Amino acid sequence: MADVTFTKVQKKFGTFTAVPGLDLDIREGEFVSLLGPSGCGKTTTLRMLAGLEFPTSGEIRIGDRVVNDVAPGQRDIAMVFQSYALYPHMTVAENIAYPLKKRGVAKAERHEMVARTAEMLQITPLLARKPKELSGGQQQRVALGRALVRDPKVFLLDEPLSNLDAKLRGYMRGELIELHQRLGRTMVYVTHDQLEAMTMSDRIAVMEGGKLQQFAPPQDVYREPANRFVAGFIGTPGMTLIDGELARNGADWRFDAPGISVPALELGDQAETGPAAMGLRPEALTIGTGDIAAEIQLVEQTGHENIVIVRVGEIRLTGRTQPHQVWSPGDRVGMAIDPDMTHFFAAGPTGARLNAPLPPRADPAATSAPMLKEMTS
Ligand code: ADP
Ligand code: MG
Repeated sequence: MADVTFTKVQKKFGTFTAVPGLDLDIREGEFVSLLGPSGCGKTTTLRMLAGLEFPTSGEIRIGDRVVNDVAPGQRDIAMVFQSYALYPHMTVAENIAYPLKKRGVAKAERHEMVARTAEMLQITPLLARKPKELSGGQQQRVALGRALVRDPKVFLLDEPLSNLDAKLRGYMRGELIELHQRLGRTMVYVTHDQLEAMTMSDRIAVMEGGKLQQFAPPQDVYREPANRFVAGFIGTPGMTLIDGELARNGADWRFDAPGISVPALELGDQAETGPAAMGLRPEALTIGTGDIAAEIQLVEQTGHENIVIVRVGEIRLTGRTQPHQVWSPGDRVGMAIDPDMTHFFAAGPTGARLNAPLPPRADPAATSAPMLKEMTS
């Protein structure tokens, strides 16, 4: 059963359309990320679900209830904001207890629920402190605690980790995954950080310009990006996108760009000759050997691998190599492209994917754990 449903939801601010028409079905217990660049309508979408913003048209359901006209407090949701929004004059314990107090829960019960929540988030020693006596990570846990204690049907989180430093963010990602597994609650998580979305989500809703570009599990978004926008947004280092032409000779297709010509093996039926883009993830390139004449432009040593940017004429491509392969900018090297690892898109910024569909994965659940490892290593 769908737990949260958006049907043709539109949101205008005056004459500006932030969300032109969103259809989205989120399953019960699912962790769904709304992912996209700043300004693409993620927060607006989440705030409409929270009841803090009203859709201009369309319908939002939580469970089987239409909530368009339901007040935020009656929606059985809890929201965690990027800014934490803790009450500065209250202690940690009072902050967490606040939603219970408002709901009229008796003092003894409140006390017990706060203690249990604090235990779960490992903030018991902080209960008597005020927010200003806490680190950013600790404040974020308290904000989470205040949401958890309400035991809502749906959790809404808007960039909850973006104020934390990189190390703590990585740690809190793990904590949130664990929390979701333990509680089994529906979570809708807004982020502009593709790594967060890739590592935490059951499914990712990729948005751009208020429009849903793709809604699929992380593996699928990575392996079969629906269009050029999604392809460029997902993955670090990002996919190289090369503008060129598709040409065919009988059954044989090629992709040609200045200095690069590759057999186009992965095309589906909808491909046409003419302008198109080829997408190459770093792993599709072999740098150091091959027939393509390339020039090293930049080498970034990350420790366990090198990220290498090469140029073929005017085209810049990003690859990765073993850490012992060190070149200097200006070095001339051979390069090869694996034609089995090419993505093709119709011309234009959000050109549709032209590859033939991949065979379905055997068990989506079984492959999400390796993805997590791959993305965070
Ligand atoms: P995101 O969270 O993806 O960064 P938002 O949902 O906050 O994006 O904003 C989407 C678009 O709607 C942006 O162009 C933003 O400027 C605009 N917007 C958001 N809230 C309002 C508002 N209250 N009034 C006018 N425009 C708004
Ligand atoms: Mg936002």
